[in-house]
Amino acid sequence: MRCVICSSPDIEEREVEEEIRIGNDIVVVPVKTKVCAGCGERYYDRKTMTLLEEIEDKLEKKSINLRVVGKVLKCQI
Ligand SMILES: [Zn+2]
Repeated sequence: MRCVICSSPDIEEREVEEEIRIGNDIVVVPVKTKVCAGCGERYYDRKTMTLLEEIEDKLEKKSINLRVVGKVLKCQI
């Protein structure tokens, strides 16, 4: 498999942090997925897509445990 963006053959499985935005909040979800070492493009398989959809659904229903790890800050420009 080659990257569709930069055509690098260097695609490896990595732990990444996916961000889901809920209003003004950002929820960080650690997932394992294939990432291009050349340009950083992420390739999600069906399982990971389903997992992220499930988490989004749980976030809407507020039925998932969250831990506060930081703040979301916005530049005033
Ligand atoms: Zn790439």
